Amino acid sequence: MRGVIMHAPGDVRVEDRETPTLVETTDAILRVAAACVCKSDLWPYRGIEAVDGPAPMGHEYVGVVEQVGEDVENIEVGDFVLGSFFASDNTCEICRAGYQTHCVHRQPGAATGAQSQYVRVPLADGTLVATPGMPDDDLIPSLLAASDVLGTGWFAAVAAEAGPGKTVAVVGDGAVGLLGVLAAKQLGAERIITMSRHADRQALAREFGATDIVTERGDEGVARVKELTGGLGAHSVIEAVGTQESMMQAIRSTRPGGHVGYVGVAHDVALPGEELFFSGVHLHGGPAPVRRFLPELIELIWDRTIDPGRVFDLTLPLEQAAEGYRAMDERRAIKVLLAP
Ligand SMILES: [Zn+2]
Repeated sequence: MRGVIMHAPGDVRVEDRETPTLVETTDAILRVAAACVCKSDLWPYRGIEAVDGPAPMGHEYVGVVEQVGEDVENIEVGDFVLGSFFASDNTCEICRAGYQTHCVHRQPGAATGAQSQYVRVPLADGTLVATPGMPDDDLIPSLLAASDVLGTGWFAAVAAEAGPGKTVAVVGDGAVGLLGVLAAKQLGAERIITMSRHADRQALAREFGATDIVTERGDEGVARVKELTGGLGAHSVIEAVGTQESMMQAIRSTRPGGHVGYVGVAHDVALPGEELFFSGVHLHGGPAPVRRFLPELIELIWDRTIDPGRVFDLTLPLEQAAEGYRAMDERRAIKVLLAP
């Protein structure tokens, strides 16, 4: 089969690879229908994180089940399924509490790399959710979005306690931030402030439900959010970047008693204890337990209530994955879909 390998920062190649086979009796093998490039793939691509040898890439996937191990009961050959970036048993205490990304048996969800024609998914019963049938082609981008960016934006909105009567601010205008806007809207938020400087992303944010746009960053951005909220700050703030600046912008944009849902993977973030102590702000986040939300998100997509697939603004054949990485690195694309 063909699959993406990262050899070094900036060096991504599509190569002949061994087609994955069942390893554990709880595994499934999927024929990948669509995969994509994640912003977190750009950390090693940019040399900010080490590249771990020649590394198979990709952790977002939708596809058709080709084979299942003998202990798999909930998923059948021929099902169209999606899962997320961590595999989980969905039965331990942590999973049952809704924190599947912290499952006591968690492991990478796309064990052999999802940017490929086939992928092995461990703990198939706990990890994968089947759609009600074979999806129409136009639903595939939205289902793929649910695999990570939608599930992550949704968790951020839930962690930030977005809901009726709330003003939500969103720091970060990548796919996760934009889908945080969509989630906040679905959860009933009254007002949604998007922090973005890019016209195309602002337009998509508005389409997803943003009511206000703030173009300032850092302390100026905070001042602008305060101005829009009677000097108090937002009730709920979604942080979808993961830098010191974005995290402090999120915390300082939140009113006392309010909630920050942070899902940008933290890179060199150090929180000042004294400022936190006096802020009265709740912080909750981390790797999103996407699995918790998949049944609900699949239903919303299947019914065409939401169209999160709009974040994919570039679709390329798998063979052109290197161009996909370049386009996201250079911010020419919000999110790139790879079609095997
Ligand atoms: Zn578990």
